[in-house]
Formats: sequence, structure tokens, C-alpha cells
Amino acid sequence: MPVVQSFDPKVISLLQEKIKLIPSAEGDGAIYLVGPIKLPVNLDGETAEFKWYCWLNCKEVTENFEAIVAKLSASNLAELQQSSVLVHGDFADDASALIRFHSICHTGDIFGSKRCDCGYQLKQSMKHVVEHGSGAIFYLANHEGRGIGLFSKALAYILQENGYDTVDANLQLGFADDSRDYGDAIKVLKSLRTKPVTLITNNPKKLEALRQAGLDVEDRVQLWGDVSDYNRNYLETKIQRSGHLNDNERCCNND
Ligand SMILES: [Zn+2]
Repeated sequence: MPVVQSFDPKVISLLQEKIKLIPSAEGDGAIYLVGPIKLPVNLDGETAEFKWYCWLNCKEVTENFEAIVAKLSASNLAELQQSSVLVHGDFADDASALIRFHSICHTGDIFGSKRCDCGYQLKQSMKHVVEHGSGAIFYLANHEGRGIGLFSKALAYILQENGYDTVDANLQLGFADDSRDYGDAIKVLKSLRTKPVTLITNNPKKLEALRQAGLDVEDRVQLWGDVSDYNRNYLETKIQRSGHLNDNERCCNND
């Protein structure tokens, strides 16, 4: 049972100013978006200013945020990763803004694994957004291994080391090739910006999926690089089997 708490009214009022309720159009819950929070980031030695937002999807729909805060300490949220977004520039109003929907990659983003190019793409996307002057990097925490989760991704890697390509490894483990959902991220994006966006992706299928999910995309820019002997097969699979366009590709879950 959750512990009943009473909070300092000042604490609740500080938080209330920074929490936005985004009700689900389907009537099955809400997204609680918290931010903006200042986040200066070290990008290759230069400090870039981002505004950071994090969100939580809840069944309960209430403007009484104290009731939501009261549940957090008993909710074990660290067991269920939350997604977030880094925003740069005048994101709501600038005529043009770059968007990246980045699927979490524990091995690539954190450890710098060369089996894929996710870490490279994440950093490059952040740099592109800063150079462009306006944009947002969505970091989607429920997308590990194209939505199969980290443990299953480890199993898929074992299969890949034994000759299965990325797509077949997921299929052999009983998963769909790609089970990622962008619904919440698109709702969050719409609450931050209503104008069209330019999507950073090498994957036209992803662009199409996002359009069908309601994203207003006016253009796409590609992002290639960091190809090595370690990820060449993976990247090749993306082109041959996952509909990616270019002549190099990446290795675990992004795009
Ligand atoms: Zn990766």
C-alpha cells in the first residue's frame, strides 16, 4: 500500500508549475510532462544549453499533482525506465526544427559499443540540433533492441554472433522485427510544438510510421557514419531487410 504523505505546500507549488497534464484522446490515462529543466551539456568540449523534459504515463487522470507525487515513492519507477526529451532553442516558435526519435541503446549510448552506431547518432543528432538552432532529441526508454528489452537483446546478440542477422535474431526469439511505439512521444512533441518538424532518420519506414501516428513531418535528413568491421553486417541488414536507404547502416535498434 502506498504510504500516505503530506507535502510542504511550497514543494507542491514549485512542482505544479512545471508539470503539464496531457490527457489521452482515447480516455485511457494521461501523460504527465515535467519541465523545462535547465540541462547544460558537454558536446565535444563545448557547453550546449538544453531544456530537459521527462514524462510519465499514468492511468489516473488528475490535475491534483500532489496525488501523483504521493504515489511516486511507492511506485518503484526505477524498475520501469521513463523517457525524456532534450529541447534546444525556441522550439515552439521557430519556423524550422530538427527532431530525433532516438531509441535507447544501453550498449551503444552508454558503453560506446561499436556493434551499432547508436551512440554516434545520438551525439551527432544533438550537435545537428544545436547547429540548426532549434530542435528536440527524444530519448525513448522503452525501445531497447527495437522494443524487445535489454535481456532479450543480449540473447539476440548471441544469435547474431552465430550467423543470424538482426531481423532473424529477433524473429527467432519470438519477437516482431520492430515493436516500437511512438504514440506518447508524439503527444509530448505536439504539446511542445505544433508547427511541422524535420526528422533526423535514415529510415523512410520510420518516417512513414510517424506520419501515420500523426506527426507533422515536412522533411527528413539522414545521418550516417561510424561504420566499422564490427557493425557492417548490421548496417547491411538494415538496408537489405529493414528498408533503409543508404549504403551504410547501424546495428541494433535505432532507425
Ligand atoms: Zn545500438
